Amino acid sequence: MQKQEILKTYFGYTGFRPGQEMLIDSILAGRDVLGIMPTGAGKSICYQVPALMLPGITVVISPLISLMKDQVQALNQAGVHAAYINSSLTEGQIQKAMEYAMGGRYKIIYVAPERLETWDFICFAQRARISMVAVDEAHCISQWGQDFRPSYLKIVSFIKRLNSRPVIGAFTATATSQVKDDIIAVLGLEDPQLLISGFDRQNLYFGVETPKSKLSYVLQYIESHAGDSGIIYCATRKNVEKVQEALLARGIPAAKYHAGLTPQERSENQEDFIYDRKPVIVATNAFGMGIDKSNVRYVLHFNMPQSMENYYQEAGRAGRDGAESECIMLFSGQDVMVNQYLLDNKPPNEELGPEENELVRERDRQRLQSMVNYAYSTDCLRKYILEYFGEYGMQRCENCSACKGEYEEQDCTEAARKVINCILELRQRFGINVVAGTLHGDKRSKLLELGADRCPAYGALQELSEDRIKQIIRELEQRKYLSATQDKYAILKVCAKAQDLLDGSDSLILRWAREEQRIAERTRKARKSDVLNHRGLELFEALKRLRMELAREGSIPPYMVFSDKTLIEMCVCLPFDRGEMLQVAGVGERKYDNYGEAFLAVIREFTQGRREKTYFGEMKAAAPGSVGRKTIKTQKQPFMITAIRAAEFRPTDVCLATELAAELNQLADLQTVQKLSGAEILRFAAAQGWVQEVWQEGRWKKLVTESGDRAGFFLDKRVSQRGTEYEVVYLSAAAQQTVLDHYTDLIVLHDEPDE
Ligand code: ADP
Repeated sequence: MQKQEILKTYFGYTGFRPGQEMLIDSILAGRDVLGIMPTGAGKSICYQVPALMLPGITVVISPLISLMKDQVQALNQAGVHAAYINSSLTEGQIQKAMEYAMGGRYKIIYVAPERLETWDFICFAQRARISMVAVDEAHCISQWGQDFRPSYLKIVSFIKRLNSRPVIGAFTATATSQVKDDIIAVLGLEDPQLLISGFDRQNLYFGVETPKSKLSYVLQYIESHAGDSGIIYCATRKNVEKVQEALLARGIPAAKYHAGLTPQERSENQEDFIYDRKPVIVATNAFGMGIDKSNVRYVLHFNMPQSMENYYQEAGRAGRDGAESECIMLFSGQDVMVNQYLLDNKPPNEELGPEENELVRERDRQRLQSMVNYAYSTDCLRKYILEYFGEYGMQRCENCSACKGEYEEQDCTEAARKVINCILELRQRFGINVVAGTLHGDKRSKLLELGADRCPAYGALQELSEDRIKQIIRELEQRKYLSATQDKYAILKVCAKAQDLLDGSDSLILRWAREEQRIAERTRKARKSDVLNHRGLELFEALKRLRMELAREGSIPPYMVFSDKTLIEMCVCLPFDRGEMLQVAGVGERKYDNYGEAFLAVIREFTQGRREKTYFGEMKAAAPGSVGRKTIKTQKQPFMITAIRAAEFRPTDVCLATELAAELNQLADLQTVQKLSGAEILRFAAAQGWVQEVWQEGRWKKLVTESGDRAGFFLDKRVSQRGTEYEVVYLSAAAQQTVLDHYTDLIVLHDEPDE
């Protein structure tokens, strides 16, 4: 079977997502790969599809039992025979699994890294034909990453012991260059095909809120999202207990999950959530790895996590099915202190020496600082996240709390001057708490002891809250007017650039979060209820009931039968027979054989066999096979412009990829196609061999190739706000035209009436 056919037959999808095909082709050609893709981007398909095409077995190394169980269950549902080997099986079961794999019954086996050094498994691996080793969560191999697992180092000696070297695929959602570098070096990847897929998850809304009472916010939020599935992350077990109790008291069925529960309680609670018996789970960060529940509609962070890596991974558990979902972090100044305390009291890693441990601690502090800056950021949150992961060039996203105008602008130049003067008066010897307290005129005894009240700046900003003053300080830090030392005390220093603020050549305009933000008022992006009308929702509920029944019968989570998104699409397309049903995204042949008829029966009965009735807003009845998917908001088509609109485009002499993207977005119908980003244009250029990323001098650098030069691409250097040097790619008029041609849909011309 060809890869496209495998994708459709087993996974029910008609097209690969950007980048998936490139990695699959490389693996099939015997080239190692490193796939860096955000949570939910579809890493598994990248090794599962080639695993079914390679002659031998694929060994997938995965850190958690729950992760393996979930993946294997989903594969078996899709009709792929796969197994896992881990400590949850008996010796007899392990022997049997290896026997079956030898006999060709399993093409894919999942193992924990510890298994790789057991005698039995090595003997098996040496006798069997292993075509690929796929390393999931590959960042666990990096000592500097926050999830370092020493057992991952065993992978290297395991591969060396094999009779012939299999192709190696490494996959992770952590994109910092250090981790990338470590993965390549430690795993010994040979000239790997690198894919850093766009980290942007367009269907996710990002928000930071600073409510007076976090608990009331959460209660109000959940009540206004009744019936939706969501996760609430808390920093401590105590908070988990507190939030869950409050939800239960309001009659909201909520499960809880933290390391203080027994393994049995944890697994029962997790299942209550996964099987949709309880729509909400309140959890610490112990929850989530390996949870592929696709219909999570929101992820609320009751407390700020310790790093952007953690945050993006946890928030990324929302909206895996591609439907609109929300990720909101609730923030208070106390979160910073709690996290600081947790870091300071983190036990050292016994596998590392004292110096290495100090380095790890240092990195942890930097990561926390970046998270704090996110919380205080008044600029586009998505842009902040993407830049953190090395993706520059994004403009405002219009789908985060900052872009949605939940802020108001204010000139803070005068306040900024007072901050700078205060730091100078305090002789640049203190951190943010002392400086903010002094400016606010606080009477804390520590400040009085230091003599802060004798400083001329004492109380100079008493009209502002301490939190506000801190926001100004962080903003000054971000914009490089101030810097903080990289140690535990983070002492504030004034940078040379601050002179521009003092002498009036620079000003500081900040956007503050509006105080009165009411959840219910916030205009959410399209949700399922926007796509389906009243009748459509009734059908959706009927399909969901059937899904629940089938899931119960098969003892599997409902989303493994079909995702919400697939059910919504059924309501829109109204398939009446096998052929039509197979056109629905997410319905593969194997799943059709298991469930297709049952769903068809419900649809036929509900519609009485009449398709002319519409079940969704703004759409006319669609003819079978030509369902107007373009108008379904939850399933936007990839970016394209009609030839007619493309003719309006006027190239400029030279521009950036982001600028071109903004121009092209204006010509496209963004109701039906996904928004184009500068990063996407650069990925297209990379796929054409015009632009490359190469590892040089300890970081990834962009290069324009000779053919890129001929196509009209060229480079320039810039320095980001965070002080990192990076290259920007410019496009000449000719290059702009080439990009435009690529995104122009000529077929639409043929839709014009012939006569
Ligand atoms: P990751 O491991 O990167 O977090 P997964 O492999 O779990 O992501 O995939 C996330 C979701 O996206 C899954 O529900 C998967 O079935 C779906 N998916 C993956 N590839 C495609 C594709 N080509 N088309 C549609 N959906 C896809």
